[in-house]
Amino acid sequence: MRLVLLGAPGSGKGTQSQKLVDKHGIPQVSTGDLLRDAVARQTPLGMQAKAAMDAGKLVDDAIVLALLRERLARRDAKRGFILDGYPRNVAQADTLAAMLEETRQPLDAVVLMDVDTRVLFRRLTGRRTCRRCGRVFNVYTHPPTGLRDCKGGKEHDLFQRPDDNEATISNRLEVYEAQTQPLVSYYRRRRLLKVVDAEGELDVVFARLEDALADAAAAASPREQRRPVRSRRASGRAKGSSVNDTLKGAARKAARIEKKAEKTARKTVKRAEKQAKRTVAKAEKAARKTVKRAKKTAKRKVATARKAIRKAARPSLAKRTKRAVGKVASRVRKATKPSAKTRVKRAIRKASRRLKR
Ligand code: AMP
Repeated sequence: MRLVLLGAPGSGKGTQSQKLVDKHGIPQVSTGDLLRDAVARQTPLGMQAKAAMDAGKLVDDAIVLALLRERLARRDAKRGFILDGYPRNVAQADTLAAMLEETRQPLDAVVLMDVDTRVLFRRLTGRRTCRRCGRVFNVYTHPPTGLRDCKGGKEHDLFQRPDDNEATISNRLEVYEAQTQPLVSYYRRRRLLKVVDAEGELDVVFARLEDALADAAAAASPREQRRPVRSRRASGRAKGSSVNDTLKGAARKAARIEKKAEKTARKTVKRAEKQAKRTVAKAEKAARKTVKRAKKTAKRKVATARKAIRKAARPSLAKRTKRAVGKVASRVRKATKPSAKTRVKRAIRKASRRLKR
């Protein structure tokens, strides 16, 4: 089954796609997810896409096509796919038709998930996704049921998509009205469109979706499948150029954009390197200053410690006094010592006295 789910942001395309994946075993191909992944991995295409996504605008057709082509070429998409978020304008619808015609794999159905704008707004502002298991909840209408409902019996780790803020939501809804809504008549003209009331319980909506797909399968005539209707744009182009030319043109544009994005990425890296160098130099200078200051403080501390040691090692006051007194006494003794001449005279006198005796 090759299916396009059409609908405004928040119409439940992603949630219902997941249910179809579980039931039919064909992959969901969400261009929003492919773009978010490219942005998260900071690939050249992702870096080009980021600004438009943050503003709630459509990303350049060629960027989206490059990611989509690569995804649809994978083996799991050979048996069929659910396109969620693509096409989003008439040019993309033409490109998709050309691409599928090339591989002779036309679409089986296009389902419009129909939801009132007020409901959409509430769904988008309340939308939360679990970082761990990827499940999507709504804090107003579909909050997590159990506290330990996530993988490994843990609590869900919910986050809000950055483009689910009110300003961006308004932009996205306006873009949908202006650019994607025309696809309703585009696919109606090709008898591929089925409209599903997408308000209400998840399982009820899923049952309606399954009914619509069964109707589409029953209605699909082999003739229609062999010769999909071309849009006025596509058939206009087909007069002067082939489907291959259209695809080649898109691929060339994608290559150009990728090259430009790579150049921008290289520039960004260079700028970041320069900035990093400057930061390192600044940090080194600060570190040198800190070391110098620390050395000075250490020197001062060592000097103080030495002084304290010297002070502590000095003899006590009693000892110093005794020593001083001893010094004075020795000086007095020295000063009062008889001279050599007197000592000789005294010795002579002493000796003569002994002789007389
Ligand atoms: P979604 O998850 O489908 O709501 O997409 C999130 C954002 O990705 C959109 O608001 C756009 O900026 C961008 N995006 C997704 N699919 C397309 C597409 N087919 N064409 C252009 N931009 C897209």
